[in-house]
Amino acid sequence: MNIARQKGCKDILPDESKIWQYIEKQVREICRTYNINEIRTPVFEATELYCRGVGNETDIVNKEMYTFLDKKGRSITLRPELTAGVVRAYIEDGLSSKMSSPIKLWYVGNMYRYEKMQKGRYREFSQFGVEYFGSNSYLADIETICVSSELLKRLDLSDKVNLEINSIGCEKCRKEYINKLKEYIKPNLCNMCDTCKVRFDKNPLRILDCKEIKCSDILKNAPVITDFLCDDCRKDFENIKMALNKLEIEYTINPRIVRGLDYYNKTVYEYVSKDLGLAVGGGGRYDKLVSTIGGVDTPAVGFGMGMDRLVLLLKEYNLVDKLNTNIDVYFLTDESTYIPIQKYINNLRSLGYVVESNIQQRSFNAQFKYANKIGANFVVIVDKEDFKDNKCDIKNMITGEQFKIKLDINSIKEKIDNA
Ligand code: AMP
Repeated sequence: MNIARQKGCKDILPDESKIWQYIEKQVREICRTYNINEIRTPVFEATELYCRGVGNETDIVNKEMYTFLDKKGRSITLRPELTAGVVRAYIEDGLSSKMSSPIKLWYVGNMYRYEKMQKGRYREFSQFGVEYFGSNSYLADIETICVSSELLKRLDLSDKVNLEINSIGCEKCRKEYINKLKEYIKPNLCNMCDTCKVRFDKNPLRILDCKEIKCSDILKNAPVITDFLCDDCRKDFENIKMALNKLEIEYTINPRIVRGLDYYNKTVYEYVSKDLGLAVGGGGRYDKLVSTIGGVDTPAVGFGMGMDRLVLLLKEYNLVDKLNTNIDVYFLTDESTYIPIQKYINNLRSLGYVVESNIQQRSFNAQFKYANKIGANFVVIVDKEDFKDNKCDIKNMITGEQFKIKLDINSIKEKIDNA
C-alpha cells in the first residue's frame, strides 16, 4: 500500500512541532495576561452557518469550502474560519449570560479551505484567533491589535511584518461609497477580469482586493472608502490611528483592504510580511454578525493569525535556533541497573530535567555513542558495582570532566546545576 498525504496538507515533524509549541506557548501566555479565555468548538458545522453568517459572495464561501452530506443527508462544512463558529457557540451556549461583558475569547485550531496551493497556502491550516463580544468602543479594537502585536513582538517578527489598517465604515456610509465605486468602475468593467465582473453586481467591495494587474491598474485612481465615512465612523477611525500612534504601534493606511469575508464594518486590518508579501493575519470589527446568526445585536471585534505563516517566517529568518531543546542527562545503565535506576530518572523528570535512558538495551559503548549523538549535556553511569555501593559516575560531556558521586538526586542535581 502506498497511501500519500492529501494535497494541501502537511505532516508537522518533530523539528517543526517545536516551533509550533513555542508559538502556542506564547499565545497561551499572552491571552492569560489579557484575561482572554480559550474556546474550543467543533471542526465541522452546519453549512448554513457559513452561507448565512459569512455571506454568500466571498471566495471562501463560493469556492473554497469542504462541504459534504453526512449519512443522514445533512449538509456539513469543515470550518473555513472560526469567527462564525465562535459566534454560533456564543449564542447557543448563552455566553452573554454566563460571563461578564466584554467577553474575550481565543482559539487555536485547524481550518479547511479548498485553495489553489502556493507557498504558505494550504488546504488544512491553523489559525490563532481572538474574538471580543460586547464592546463597541475603539478601545476593544485597539486591545485586540495589541494582542496580535505582542505575539509578533515575542516572536521577534515585529519589524518583518507591516500592520495595514483601513475603515470600511458602516452600512450607511458604505452604501454611498459602493455607488461611487461602481460609477467609477462601470466604464472600465469590460477590461476587468471575469471575477471582478461577477463581483461588480454581487459584492463590489471585493473588487478592491483583486490581484490581477489589469484590474489593479484600473483601480489605482478609484475613490477610497475613507473619504466617504460618516461622522461616527470617521471619529472611530481617527481614534484608532491616534491610539496606535500613542502606543507606538507602526501601521500604514491601506484603503484597499476589505478582508476576505464580508461581515466586517469599521476598522479592518491585515498583517503582511514585508519580504514575502504574504498575509500573516487579519481582523476587524463585525458588529452585525451576532444578529445575522440569530443572536441579540452585539458589537464584536477580532482577528485571526495564520500559525503556518508564523512558523514559515520564523524559519525564513532563522529565528528557531533557540528552540532546540537540550537533553540534560543520559543515564547509562546495564541490564541489572536499568529498572532500579528508574526512580532517579523519573524524579529528575518531575523536577523538569530532560532525561534519556537505555530503553533499547544497548551495550555500554553504544550508549556512549548515542548520548553523544543526541547531545546530552551529562551522562550518569551506573553499573552493577557502583549501584551496590550507592554510587555513580557523572560525566560533563562538554568539558569531559568525570566525577564519582553519591547516587542520589541532590548530588546529581548539584553537578548539573553548577555546570
Ligand atoms: P483570513 O481568515 O482569510 O483573513 O485569514 C487569516 C490568516 O490565516 C491569514 O492572514 C493567513 O495568515 C492565514 N491563512 C488563510 N488562509 C490560509 C491558507 N490557505 N493556508 C495557510 N494560512 C492561511
